[in-house]
Amino acid sequence: VMASMAHLQKEKLRLQEELLELQEKLTAQENNELSLSLQLQGQVETLKEKLLEQAQEISRLRSELGGTDAEKHRDLLAAENERLRQEMKACEGELRELRRQQQQAPCRDCPHLQENAGLQEQLSQLQREAEETRAKLVELDLEVQQKTNRLAEVELRLKDSLAERAEEEERLSRRLRDSQETIASLKSQPQQIKYIIKTVEVESPKAKQALCETQSRNQYLQEQVGMQKQVLKEMEQQLQSSQKTEAQLRAQIMMYEAELERAHGQMLEEMQAMEEEKNHAIEEAFSRAQVEMKAVHENLAGVRTNLLTLQPALRTLTHDYNSLKRQVRDFPLLLQETLRSARAEISQAIEEVHSTNRELLRKYRRELQLRKKCHNELVRLKGNIRVFGRVRPITKEDGEGPEAANAVTFDADDDAVLHLLHKGKQVSFELDKVFPPQASQEEVFQEVQALVTSCIDGYNVCIFAYGQTGAGKTYTMEGTAENPGINQRALQLLFSEVRGKAADWDYAITVSAAEIYNEALRDLLGKEPQEKLEIKLCPDGSGQLYVPGLTEFRVQSVEDINKVFEFGHVKRVTECTNLNEHSSRSHALLIVTVRGLDRSTGLRTTGKLNLVDLAGSERVGRSGAEGSRLREAQHINKSLSALGDVIYALRSRQGHVPFRNSKLTYLLQDSLSGDSKTLMMVQVSPAEKNTSETLCSLKFAERVRSVELGPVSRKAELGSWPSQEHLEVPKRLLGDSPGSAAPPGRGHASPSPGQLSSRSASIRRKLHTSG
Ligand code: ADP
Ligand code: MG
Repeated sequence: VMASMAHLQKEKLRLQEELLELQEKLTAQENNELSLSLQLQGQVETLKEKLLEQAQEISRLRSELGGTDAEKHRDLLAAENERLRQEMKACEGELRELRRQQQQAPCRDCPHLQENAGLQEQLSQLQREAEETRAKLVELDLEVQQKTNRLAEVELRLKDSLAERAEEEERLSRRLRDSQETIASLKSQPQQIKYIIKTVEVESPKAKQALCETQSRNQYLQEQVGMQKQVLKEMEQQLQSSQKTEAQLRAQIMMYEAELERAHGQMLEEMQAMEEEKNHAIEEAFSRAQVEMKAVHENLAGVRTNLLTLQPALRTLTHDYNSLKRQVRDFPLLLQETLRSARAEISQAIEEVHSTNRELLRKYRRELQLRKKCHNELVRLKGNIRVFGRVRPITKEDGEGPEAANAVTFDADDDAVLHLLHKGKQVSFELDKVFPPQASQEEVFQEVQALVTSCIDGYNVCIFAYGQTGAGKTYTMEGTAENPGINQRALQLLFSEVRGKAADWDYAITVSAAEIYNEALRDLLGKEPQEKLEIKLCPDGSGQLYVPGLTEFRVQSVEDINKVFEFGHVKRVTECTNLNEHSSRSHALLIVTVRGLDRSTGLRTTGKLNLVDLAGSERVGRSGAEGSRLREAQHINKSLSALGDVIYALRSRQGHVPFRNSKLTYLLQDSLSGDSKTLMMVQVSPAEKNTSETLCSLKFAERVRSVELGPVSRKAELGSWPSQEHLEVPKRLLGDSPGSAAPPGRGHASPSPGQLSSRSASIRRKLHTSG
């Protein structure tokens, strides 16, 4: 429809253009006709005048002459004129018929739908325009008719005048004939006429003159007639040209009509095409609607069947719904019931859990006690006193050459055995464990860890570093900033352990630092480090010792410990010009006290961890030192001997332990006796030049360690070692050859006459077990 609309629009434009052209042509024609009619009018006017003149002339001539050829010609012209008029009338009739047809054109009662209304409107507009042009055409036709009427009138008049002229001519010709007859009759009587003429000539010059006049007049009249004939011819020519133009006009009219008819035909065709299109579209829509209807019907059928199947489901659903509703109504009651029973069950379960909890707690405490007992037993079986050896690596300080050669070797299979090459002989020693030079601080601490943790359980622990100066005592105890030793690692471990037990236990960790130099005890953290402290018995009669005035710092983190260490170091540095020298000549003690409170049981525990960096064990006295050096050496020797005595006495479980022989042993009395645990870390240098001191240190270590294992120790009556001889190994223990294949000092391997019987050994064990 859109396409056809566009086409129609185009057609309309084209028609409008054509109309405009037609109008232009019409106006041109009008102008033409107007000018023509004006011309014709002018000609008619002149013709009328001439006719009048001719009429007068003819009437005058007619009186003289009869009719002429012009009359015949006039008759012919009149007949032609009549025929033309009739043709014109027929044309007009046709034109009128055509117009009627035009007016009665279809598309008035167009049965088109509303969608064609716009098009129809356009069409009607076009028709209106066509009608307007038609009206104009009618007007033009009218004008043409008027003009033809006028022309007819003019022709009529012309005919009248021609008739008049014919009459005149007839009259004239009659007269002419008469006159000719008279002339002929006159001729037939020539003599007479000659005579007459002669006579006339003779007789009347007057008649002669009259004849001449008549002859000239006759000639003039004849000339006049010729002129009239010429005028008539011209008029006829004019008539022909006007007829020609009329024919042209008629042809044009016919052309326009044909064009109009064509346009009308096109319009009709288009309308028919549109009608067809519309019908086609309607048919299509109808078929589509039918298909859709079919689909909808099918859907409906499906839905109906669905509905049929759904109905029973709905019935069951409503049934379910009703039952659910009933259940919901009963639900609160049921819920209350269930809640009550559940509450009862829960409270019962809680009760049960509570009782089992109590039971478990009781069992746990019993197990805890048992564990502690077992641990103690284990430690006891391992020996409450343990001796480790640590060999430091060869350092730059050892120098170069044969003196710095390595003299210490290890057993690949036994980490407790160490071989020393001394003066060409290999001496073997067995300790609880030997750390080779490559052993890290971490590895060393791993072995010490258990001792440290037992401190939390309320045990007293002592860790000593023994050995000649430069053997690595301070390295093992304090370590370096980037690789800390036992001191810092132990405190870190304590902190983490305490944190782990924080749920049940409250712990307080305090730290003290002291130094024993020349048998004088000094507080390293106090305000007056020079002050000598005394060790006293507790006045509460518990038999416990304490040091009045010894500063204690409570520590809670590693940062606190670092501060304490720094403080202690600063004290030592400010006092001494040569720190190394001094430190190797004094015992440094770090005393950590761990006090715990079990919140659930109210049980209180106190454990003490004593970390001791002993003075150098080298034998100065023998090289003949004097003065203060000698005094220092004597003091060191005495205190180390006293320590050896005490440990020996403890390991051999003697009744009397000589704690009071030195300040060191006296201070550590409660940490060395009873359930206390002691570790002796014997430091040795592997360098060739130090072999004699190394030998001494290892001998000391082995002696200290061996005692308990050998039943001999029970009976051994070594009250104390002689002064300056604490490093000498008793001959009885070593046997005769220290370098023999069997490791020296292995009590069980070297039977002794003083060895107890197996019965007495079992008794001793029983006694130990019972406490
Ligand atoms: P002491 O305290 O017995 O006199 P030090 O601990 O001062 O001996 O050690 C002497 C030197 O040997 C120090 O420079 C120390 O760093 C180094 N040293 C000791 N033991 C080791 C070791 N296991 N590994 C590395 N270097 C060590
Ligand atoms: Mg040192």
